[in-house]
Amino acid sequence: MKPSEGGSPAQAALPRNSKSSTPKSAAASSDERPRKVGAYAMQCAKCFKFRSIATQEEYEEIRRNFIEEPWLCSRKENVSCDDPADMEFDTNALWVIDKPNLPKTPAGCQRILVMRKDLSKMDATYVMPNGKRMRSNGDVEKFLEAFPEYKGQFSVSDFSFTVPKIMEGMVPGKSGERGSANTGKRVRNEDMED
Ligand SMILES: [Zn+2]
Repeated sequence: MKPSEGGSPAQAALPRNSKSSTPKSAAASSDERPRKVGAYAMQCAKCFKFRSIATQEEYEEIRRNFIEEPWLCSRKENVSCDDPADMEFDTNALWVIDKPNLPKTPAGCQRILVMRKDLSKMDATYVMPNGKRMRSNGDVEKFLEAFPEYKGQFSVSDFSFTVPKIMEGMVPGKSGERGSANTGKRVRNEDMED
């Protein structure tokens, strides 16, 4: 399956079975499938293979300049386009496609993506250094008014609540509901927010 043309920005996976080797998924509740991102990957702009990216920070650093600086296998140490892909898309994970060039999460803040229970979309939340949770740009504006001491540190444009798209064909039982799932077309943009 080729999730996008021309080298896709960035991908993140929510493991279907929680593995202790993926720290991000360890925080998910135990009684259900993890709904937080447990792994990151980039698609090479040349060979279109997927390579795993170790941390959210590294991933966000690449994503930040993805359009100006398309990602290539050679940016990984000792890896070239001739090496087999790090991963294939299968049912072990629910993959989502991120938008390129989103701002890197400001230092001291945490960006959390959580999949809705019905797997319809993800929601982005930032946890600020003082523990306050932001769910929209409006929240950030109010936050900076309420806590002006952070105004020198952050601005609204440092935050993006744009969420990744769920990859076509990844959600079981959803096929056909919108009349487009089984046609091989890419996921429509209707769920994207800016
Ligand atoms: Zn490559």
